[in-house]
Amino acid sequence: MAIMSVSRQLFHLQELDLEIESHEETLRQKTKLLGDKTVLEQAQGKLNAAQKHLDDLKHEQKSLDEEIEDISGKIKHAEDQLYGGKVGSPKELLNLQHEVNSLKQSRDPLETKDLEMMDKITAAEAGVVAGQAEYKKVETAWQTQQQQLAGEIDQLKSKLAGLNADRRSVLSGIDEQSIAVYDKLRKQKGGQAVAKVEQGICRACRISLSSSEMQQARGSNLKQCGNCGRILFLS
Ligand SMILES: [Zn+2]
Repeated sequence: MAIMSVSRQLFHLQELDLEIESHEETLRQKTKLLGDKTVLEQAQGKLNAAQKHLDDLKHEQKSLDEEIEDISGKIKHAEDQLYGGKVGSPKELLNLQHEVNSLKQSRDPLETKDLEMMDKITAAEAGVVAGQAEYKKVETAWQTQQQQLAGEIDQLKSKLAGLNADRRSVLSGIDEQSIAVYDKLRKQKGGQAVAKVEQGICRACRISLSSSEMQQARGSNLKQCGNCGRILFLS
């Protein structure tokens, strides 16, 4: 059985490392979203605002009703005097009549306002109902998304466990010196330490390799690209 060349093993290691990195990044993003209640809080905020608007209107209506009731009481009192037969003086009766008229005049616009207030309250109540329905919708979607996320995170974790086991196994077959070169290059070259050679060209920096470089790359020792410094791998 042919022994796998070091460059092939390092290339395999690099493929594993790139896959592990990519999965770890996805895992980080999904973990960040897990338990993130921003959308729920936004929907709750809208619902709270709708509820507060309704409460404010009801409060305003209550004061208005009290004001109307107060004036109505005064009107009744004046009318009782007016029609009670106890007041005899025409001047006094005239004054009472003026008072009743004046009170009714001040009550009319308040009653109009009260009717408008009822319409506003009806609309505000509909707003609260819509807000509750929207919150329920957002909550259901959020719960589904969270369940999916939790499932995806579990899958990613077990996938990563498998990849890391593969990585340890590949690593155990490579000498320490080659691993040190690989690690150093990975840091320097943004993750790509090993470059494939195809048709005599380093695929990382696209330079043509000389025939002696090609020969060395075929050998059992590690050969780095004379241009970019990456470990050359002839597939
Ligand atoms: Zn190169």
